[in-house]
Amino acid sequence: MADVVLEELNKEYSNGFRAVSDLNLQINEGEFLVMVGPSGCGKSTTLRMIAGLEDITSGELRIGGRVVNTLAPKDRDIAMVFQNYALYPHMNVFDNIAFSLKLAQRPRAEIKERVNEAARILELENQLDKRPGQLSGGQRQRVAMGRAIVRRPRVFLLDEPLSNLDAKLRVQMRAEITELQRQVGVTTFYVTHDQVEAMTMADRVAVIHQGILQQVDSPMKLFNEPDNIFVAAFIGSPSMNLMEAVVQRRDSGLTMQLGSQQLAVPESLLTRRPALEGHLGSTVAVGLRPKDFEDAALVTDHPADQRLRAQVTHIEALGYEVIAYFDLDAKPVIAREALELTEDQVADAERSSARVHARFRPTTAVRPGDSIEVAVSMENAHFFDLETGLAIRD
Ligand code: ATP
Repeated sequence: MADVVLEELNKEYSNGFRAVSDLNLQINEGEFLVMVGPSGCGKSTTLRMIAGLEDITSGELRIGGRVVNTLAPKDRDIAMVFQNYALYPHMNVFDNIAFSLKLAQRPRAEIKERVNEAARILELENQLDKRPGQLSGGQRQRVAMGRAIVRRPRVFLLDEPLSNLDAKLRVQMRAEITELQRQVGVTTFYVTHDQVEAMTMADRVAVIHQGILQQVDSPMKLFNEPDNIFVAAFIGSPSMNLMEAVVQRRDSGLTMQLGSQQLAVPESLLTRRPALEGHLGSTVAVGLRPKDFEDAALVTDHPADQRLRAQVTHIEALGYEVIAYFDLDAKPVIAREALELTEDQVADAERSSARVHARFRPTTAVRPGDSIEVAVSMENAHFFDLETGLAIRD
């Protein structure tokens, strides 16, 4: 096991394109760190620099305290798992898993012992004689993992290893890989474009956008304290509602003017976000997660100044919850890259008022067309500076 330290790492391709800029990141010993970001943000480039498959333009890469910038991939003591698994179709499972050990000319008895141990951990004991073509997608994925763990590397590198699996299997493999990583305890760097995968698997998540690291934190911290609009919009499913609001003073406290309606900022929130006072009179982005809305008919004692009137346009009844959509006459804040919106979707969103999606308890009776009152947990509201995109906190 070893930690991996990226210091001021840069990657500029020969055509002058800078794929990774001044990246500082530490993957602690034994940690499962997931790098997530939209397509083309530089995740694979980062992983390939750690693997030694891509030259580092500038900066320093250390594995276990040793600078490895120019070390050949095979000497870095890492194991990689790719999207397509790269299994040898003509070899059986045993030989696929044993491949690197045979290449390293390990004694036959040791190879057998290590492959059997990997097969036991991965529950592949009964598949060792089969060829990859005879296995299910999930089993093939496990063989690819087997090939990585049998080498007992100091670092695992995984590049979108689940993207070829169907949705159900992906969920199952998420849990399997996380469990396996805990069991073997190897420092792991995993890249994906899927924020749910990142949030459910990682000890810490590194969010990257256009080659620039946005935030590195635990999944809960990212969700509850996003540092900027990009992270706020990218992390969370369904995504955060972001719209413009004017900060105003009201009595002793503050209120948000959201189009023609107002939402009070509770005293306790202002204590946690004192910087909001400095934005008095200006327009900011207010972020409200779908979970922070409720059909007001289902709650009692919700403050009158933390409610919105809305007309429901559409609902999705999912059984365990109802997603209700309604429009507000406030300007939406479009985090286009974060949500990977198409040009059409952006144009749509810019034309209309803010389309809000809210999660209601399944007992709600709301129907499309209903005029309702929505309770908003302003306690959990987020605020961002519209110019810098940064969170307004303290
Ligand atoms: P994806 O999941 O789509 O692969 P990614 O975040 O892994 O996205 P990278 O593969 O790291 O992205 O690519 C980052 C950027 O660098 C992209 O804009 C890509 O077009 C560009 N890029 C990648 N390889 C090269 C290359 N050899 N020469 C020039 N540009 C490249």
